[in-house]
Amino acid sequence: MQRTWNIDTVQKVGETVKLNGWVHHIRRMGDKLVFIDLRDSTGLVQVVCYKPDLDAEAVIVLDEVGSEYVLELEGVVQKRGEKQVNPDLATGTIEVGVKKLVILNRCKTPPFEIDKDTSGINEELRLKYRYLDLRSERLQKNLRLRNQFVQACRNFLLKQKFVEIETPYLTKATPEGSRDFVVPARLQPGKFFALPQSPQQYKQLLMVAGFERYFQLARAFRDEDPRADRGFEHTQVDIEMSFVERDDVMAMVEAMVIETVESLGFTIKQKPFPRITYAESIAKYGADKFDMRTEEDKKNNILAYAWVVDFPFFEKTEEGGWTFTHNPFSMPKPEFLADHLTGKNIEQILTTQYDLVCNGYESGGGSIRAHDSEILKATYRIMGYSEQEIQDSVGHMLEAFGYGAPPHGGIALGVERNLMNLTGEVFLREVQSFPMTGSAHTSVMDAPSELPEKSLREVHITKLNV
Ligand code: ASP
Repeated sequence: MQRTWNIDTVQKVGETVKLNGWVHHIRRMGDKLVFIDLRDSTGLVQVVCYKPDLDAEAVIVLDEVGSEYVLELEGVVQKRGEKQVNPDLATGTIEVGVKKLVILNRCKTPPFEIDKDTSGINEELRLKYRYLDLRSERLQKNLRLRNQFVQACRNFLLKQKFVEIETPYLTKATPEGSRDFVVPARLQPGKFFALPQSPQQYKQLLMVAGFERYFQLARAFRDEDPRADRGFEHTQVDIEMSFVERDDVMAMVEAMVIETVESLGFTIKQKPFPRITYAESIAKYGADKFDMRTEEDKKNNILAYAWVVDFPFFEKTEEGGWTFTHNPFSMPKPEFLADHLTGKNIEQILTTQYDLVCNGYESGGGSIRAHDSEILKATYRIMGYSEQEIQDSVGHMLEAFGYGAPPHGGIALGVERNLMNLTGEVFLREVQSFPMTGSAHTSVMDAPSELPEKSLREVHITKLNV
């Protein structure tokens, strides 16, 4: 017999069905009657084991069944009596009267209760047993919503002629303002790859390559101290478009966000999204990430988006030089181009950067890019790079721009930050499958770990005696 998903049992009243799943909850009533809430990936269904109705083998195994056991059942779908209907359960109008029952696998006593909210459980324990925590209703919901969010973005972009293209994870350091994760190169002693902080340069090269509209659900790696809303790795909906100006990218992304979150049943506070300059946002909110919701909006899970524009391109370094505030590959706003090229009035130069803010978080950010090598070179000169240093860091981009680079711009939306807004979670890890612990170890597998001498030698690393 073919297996029936729990959710589909409601359409099969009177039929015999085969079910698979886990014992979410078990209640033994006297010695003849046992109720099991059986959980599969579609939800719960109540199954009733009345011993006189079971086959002989099932009667024996039933006594052993415990929480989180994996079962295969056969039984008849029955309508519940009016008083027994459970309106909180999608399958609450029916129950399954079991005839046959097989234990497919047993389960040790779980280290915490999975059928209750696990948010109060010790974090390290939850992450050590992440695969159990992921069985809980809240995390199942979060990851399923994450799936719907990225699929909706993907569907929108595919309809708009975007092409999904993967770019390398073993690559060269790209400046995004954070520390890189590095990977030793076994075949080139003493050299290192860097994991990308973003696909920034590759997506720009894809514009030079003529794809015109690119997107990727890209993993980005940044070696920063973990915080509630930040981890070592996150995913971004990474976008780049050719022949566009600032407003074109903003309009496309705004349309994508509106279509996506509304299709998921969320309400947006204000459309079109309000725009505010960086200077205004600092004056009004004291920050460039702000929350425009009222207490009432917060209760109703409203999403308050806004664009922040007109950021300064550069800021002073501790050493008294200049560095970029957001993205060194950006184009300055046209009215500042002359100053940019000549390195004058640096503190006044504004960039084409636009940030999308939602409910106090930065939900995304991007810019129009400098597609002319003279402009990119000028950016690096302002930051104090010599001609040789410019060649060493971005020579390949300058070279590529010499071969018919179209004007282009893009954005990246942080998947986790967006999901935190949709779910109301305050920790990034609650919307990731296997996140890092607060003490920067991977969940379940507890990396980083030491390597044997031989493996270190292969990648030309000498062990430090620490
Ligand atoms: N590369 C930028 C980031 O990852 C986004 C962009 O400008 O497209 O934040």
